[in-house]
Amino acid sequence: MTTVDTTLPDRGGTSLARALTLAHTHRVARRSELTEQLGLTRTATGLVLRELETLSLLRTATTNRTGPGGPTTGRPSHTVEIHPDAPTVLAVQVQARSALIAEARLGGALGLVDEVPLTDPTTPQSVLRVVSDLLSARLATTNRPPFGVGLALPSAVGSDGTALAAHPLAWPHSVPVRTRLTELLDRAGVGVARLHIGNDANLAALAESRHGAGQGAAQMLYVMTGQVGVGGGLVIDGRLHLGSAGYALEIGHTPVRRGKRPCRCGNRGCLDVEADPIALLDAAGLNTSEPTLDKARAVIARRGVDLQARAATHLVTQRLAGGLASLVNILNPDRVVLGGMHAELLAAEGEALRSGISRHSFLDQAARVELRAAELDASALVGAAELALQPLLDDPRLSA
Ligand SMILES: [Zn+2]
Repeated sequence: MTTVDTTLPDRGGTSLARALTLAHTHRVARRSELTEQLGLTRTATGLVLRELETLSLLRTATTNRTGPGGPTTGRPSHTVEIHPDAPTVLAVQVQARSALIAEARLGGALGLVDEVPLTDPTTPQSVLRVVSDLLSARLATTNRPPFGVGLALPSAVGSDGTALAAHPLAWPHSVPVRTRLTELLDRAGVGVARLHIGNDANLAALAESRHGAGQGAAQMLYVMTGQVGVGGGLVIDGRLHLGSAGYALEIGHTPVRRGKRPCRCGNRGCLDVEADPIALLDAAGLNTSEPTLDKARAVIARRGVDLQARAATHLVTQRLAGGLASLVNILNPDRVVLGGMHAELLAAEGEALRSGISRHSFLDQAARVELRAAELDASALVGAAELALQPLLDDPRLSA
């Protein structure tokens, strides 16, 4: 066995971060698994766990193994779990018509979710005021300040916290969200140590990768629909691929074979307009006024008894397959996780979707990419929490 000196080169900080991340992402539940994953001796793992327990991040518990015939005299099992006093974060999500807030813990658990409606018009000023009020109200009732705050926005978000294209809110181009929200919080006398902002679909991808259908995948592509449009993200070895300025993977603007519908980006035939709920309702000859997701689900559910619903479901499945094939060709993921209406297309037309991807992707023919439905209910909110927790996962000693 290789012995690793935990005093070098960073006094064991890397091992602390790896151990915390392994427990946070459900990859270890027992001390023996942690020892194996870290590649350390049992003694060195013990030192890592002791420091993480001192920092109130992880704790170990001892349980006696029981066999089918009752308690045995075998060696006790040492489990590793999130410490009950571990720091928490606040996760906020802005949607087209409401804003959500919840406290979140290491391990991906969300507390009670509060939702407040947004009033028209949803200007940056009015929406950020709602977010500031939500945060102020939560912070007024907590004894302990959160480690950080994560905010999910329905927009491409730059690494400087600027929202570039919040179409669902009809915001102008380029809103400096981090600067404006920090000003509002300062004015309200609320101190937030760490404020992180990201794109909602990107953050949902991160959440699925760590706590949902993407667990165990090395390069997970996530594609989803909301009420309008198509979003997603790519998570490589547990980290979002964000590009040079934070805007990478505008998946919705992937061109689809034979697609003709005009897209708000100026092109035609983007996945955004060819494989979203409006495209499905349009193909079924139905009214496409919002909200559309439930109506689109009803069309998919009727495909067995309604020829037009069947044709519409099949057409949009083929369009989605064409877009996914292009993405698979470029990115070569080992798993594709589908959310929103796309998860329902996978359940309804799984074989057609799979064969459509294979037909248009030579890479898929070589190594079939695994398709799975998303598993989390509030994935963007869980992802916002991930963003806020990331500095702690990178450097657990920040908890001290
Ligand atoms: Zn487009």
